[in-house]
Amino acid sequence: MALAIKEFIESNGLKKGDALPAEAAFAQQLGISRPSLREGVKALESVGVLESRHGEGVFVADFSFDPIVDNLPYSLLADDAQLLHLLEVRTALEVGMIPKIVQIVPAQDIRKLRQLASRMHELALKDVSFEDEDREFHATLFGCLNNPFLNRLVDLFWQVFHRMSDSLPRSDSSSRRQTALEHIAIVEKLERGDAAGLQQAHERHFEEIHKRIMKLRNHPDGAVPSAVQLPANRTRKRPAKAEV
Ligand SMILES: [Zn+2]
Repeated sequence: MALAIKEFIESNGLKKGDALPAEAAFAQQLGISRPSLREGVKALESVGVLESRHGEGVFVADFSFDPIVDNLPYSLLADDAQLLHLLEVRTALEVGMIPKIVQIVPAQDIRKLRQLASRMHELALKDVSFEDEDREFHATLFGCLNNPFLNRLVDLFWQVFHRMSDSLPRSDSSSRRQTALEHIAIVEKLERGDAAGLQQAHERHFEEIHKRIMKLRNHPDGAVPSAVQLPANRTRKRPAKAEV
């Protein structure tokens, strides 16, 4: 059924935000029953091709990696060796795109990055995790490049990386402070327009993340990850977890 719907979308040239025909008419048009149509719609929703809006109908969804993040297999999330491979890719992506930023980053983005980094530092001093600020920091940093595909990839890697790092034991408050300081170092280079320094600071951030993961993996408490749980959804509040 999903295939028939996909063919319909393609042959009619439907784009993101376009509505599918109403259920009864659409089922008739495709020559299938309404329950099978519903099943097909559900399947395509779960992979992010369609989205249902309550009371409005079914629409072609905008491209998003969210369904991938939501459907990551448990075997991947619980395997912290894979985390290092993911980190390698994430590092190459971010560090590779960094040199372009200095030339074009607007002053308001630098101010926002400074605020986020200061907030991380404040929270670190209170021994509170700052996952949301960290995510926003990386998103803001690359936002000025105006490349939606890059934005989605940076965020995808960030999300998957942090999901996977749930399997590590909780980091201590000194490594949390260190993490905050790395973000501050990045902002300082940006404020000075120091391209080489920015590249170094960003690389350094990832080297330190790598070291922290290695340390957490070798931690005696880390031998058996404590109750790794599959998060039910993406919106979570500050959990007690590895701050990498
Ligand atoms: Zn970071």
